[in-house]
Amino acid sequence: MATHDEWDEARARELHDDLVSLYNPVEKAAEHGSDPDAAPGDGVRQLLTTILSQNVADQNTRRASESLFDQYADFAAIEAAAHDELADTIRVAGLPDQKASRIQRALSATREETGGAYSLAFLDALPTDEAKAWLMDIKGVGPKTASVVLNFHFGKPTMAVDTHVERVSKRFGLVPSSATNGRAHDVIDGIIPDELTYPLHVLLIQHGRTYCSARSPDCDNPVCETYCRCEGCWRHSASQGIPTCARIS
Ligand code: SF4
Repeated sequence: MATHDEWDEARARELHDDLVSLYNPVEKAAEHGSDPDAAPGDGVRQLLTTILSQNVADQNTRRASESLFDQYADFAAIEAAAHDELADTIRVAGLPDQKASRIQRALSATREETGGAYSLAFLDALPTDEAKAWLMDIKGVGPKTASVVLNFHFGKPTMAVDTHVERVSKRFGLVPSSATNGRAHDVIDGIIPDELTYPLHVLLIQHGRTYCSARSPDCDNPVCETYCRCEGCWRHSASQGIPTCARIS
């Protein structure tokens, strides 16, 4: 069991290898990373879809995304749309008013930055921190949304810390338990080797879904034996007859 101070690149590599032993190696998806053949608007489409995905299930994200891109001919039409009409179009994604505003702000910021084009291709040439800061200057785009765009679309080394990644990382001591989600992004990006950003993102989500659920974790697995530092963990409570992890964080 390691505390946050004991985590470094070498330990992150060990965690990756141990998770691969429990699951499978994560192959880079064909569409992952900077693609020289990508259409200029593909990054914008990723950004809008990621905004739609905030706090909603994948299935509703897909339905909202289809509705958005069926309804409007291009990004200019989305930016110029009446707010209420746009909100109605994406309603299935939840928080329609907020998300409509975020989408239109993202499109305005992109068009103004490029002098008229709806393209995020300029982010590819920026260092990751600068690219992330540009995206997070858009009100409603937080570190997770920015990291999804930068890692999934541009292949930049910044991990999207979703609920599973954050929970498992805190229980493993990789991230301090009191860290905000924004701080968790910074800590993880500072420790995880660049090339393992995407594989560990996938593997930590898999571990969160398979074993380390929020309310009833199944602690009996070889990875947790090495890494979990939960105070109420079954591994430390077995002598008291507690069958599962008692610590919910
Ligand atoms: S030991 Fe239990 S609580 Fe700790 S990380 Fe593993 S599944 Fe989660």
